[in-house]
Amino acid sequence: MSNAWSSELNRILIVFIPCTLVGFITGYLPASIIIALVIYGFWTVKQLATLRQWIDDGADVSNLPENSGIVEQHISSIVQLQKSHQLKQSGLQEVINQYEQMITALPDAVVVMSVKGEILSANQAATDLLDIDLARDKHTRITHLIRDPSFTNYFNEGIFYSPTEVRGIPATETELSVRIIPFGDSKLVLIGQDMSQSARIYEMRRSFVSNASHELRTPLTVILGYLETLALQNDMPEACSAAISAAELQANRMKQLVEDLLTLSRLESTSSVAEDHEVVPVASLIMEVVKDAKLSSWFKNHKISTQIETSALLKGNLQEIHSVISNLVNNAVKHTDDGSTITVTWKLGDNNGTRLIVEDDGQGIASEDINRLTERFYRVDAGRSREKGGTGLGLSIVKHIIGRHEGNMQISSQVGKGAIFICSFPEHRSAFNKNTQ
Ligand code: ADP
Repeated sequence: MSNAWSSELNRILIVFIPCTLVGFITGYLPASIIIALVIYGFWTVKQLATLRQWIDDGADVSNLPENSGIVEQHISSIVQLQKSHQLKQSGLQEVINQYEQMITALPDAVVVMSVKGEILSANQAATDLLDIDLARDKHTRITHLIRDPSFTNYFNEGIFYSPTEVRGIPATETELSVRIIPFGDSKLVLIGQDMSQSARIYEMRRSFVSNASHELRTPLTVILGYLETLALQNDMPEACSAAISAAELQANRMKQLVEDLLTLSRLESTSSVAEDHEVVPVASLIMEVVKDAKLSSWFKNHKISTQIETSALLKGNLQEIHSVISNLVNNAVKHTDDGSTITVTWKLGDNNGTRLIVEDDGQGIASEDINRLTERFYRVDAGRSREKGGTGLGLSIVKHIIGRHEGNMQISSQVGKGAIFICSFPEHRSAFNKNTQ
């Protein structure tokens, strides 16, 4: 028997034995037993009341009530429960502290919000990068603090698949890539990453390519000039003139590469959307490019036709649109066999937009290559492309220009059945001459 139960039994005996004896002696046994029961009941109720009072006062383990018997056993169970609860709590607190320290140490801004965007917590980087101070801004809506219109649109649209760009606090001139991720029970976490460093590296790379290309341009022009002069000499031995024309071919390839690299870095350094003050006569550009393509050395018995189905003009940059048409048409000539058929179409597209389509019936492109065609220097057959004077930069340039004109390019092809390049432009990029509309 446990201590608690034996002391409880002692108490019962202390009350009942004297009362029973007195009952026998006096002849009032039932009354004595009732008196013993009342005394025991009173004692127990008093102990329970002390226990209750101790629990109500916060069950302080340093100030245990003086009890004995089974009530004392209850008190020691409560104390044990409390101890194990405190242990668990301090373990949990440690985990919470570690998480808080980790989030504070993160170089990215982290802001936890309700679905309505009310700030619940934020780390130090959120203060440094976005000027969100938890002590001041708790429960303030995030859109009241990040006033960038692109962020307001991003938040209000509620489509958080991809990040958006936000300007950080003016003092640091940071560019932030901000992403919102829904989590848990209707909460959002905003993560803001400082992109200034990667933007600086990107800019350094771009200006290195641009400077190197500029530096190569002048010596190349001189070399080509000398080679052209030498090629005109009639008294040149056969071996020398073959070497000179091979050198001329390679120098021309290099010149094209330098020009393409310069075009790409110029496109990257200008704003992401092309100006729309100028209108480009796409139909006449198509005719001009087709005429030039027919004169190129790769044009061999190709059948090339044009279909101009709209008088629409395109608001944008003439030189850039010329480059798109020229790259696509020349690709269709270069990368198809002699006698292939090529069609260049200019027509209205979906949602009143416009479409430039260049289609050929050449050898086509395998599906695994299609998605990679617009990567820099990606060529399906590098040897064949080089042989035809290709740089592997043409479709990169085309994609960039079309993006700057708020359009998109779709490429579809089947091996052996030709390829179609469809460039679509939105309605607000179209313009019509009043007399041709
Ligand atoms: P390149 O200077 O090599 O033409 P591009 O970027 O213009 O570079 O094109 C990338 C690659 O896409 C080419 O090397 C070629 O393999 C493929 N390609 C482009 N247009 C066509 C086409 N009309 N038919 C088949 N392949 C094509």
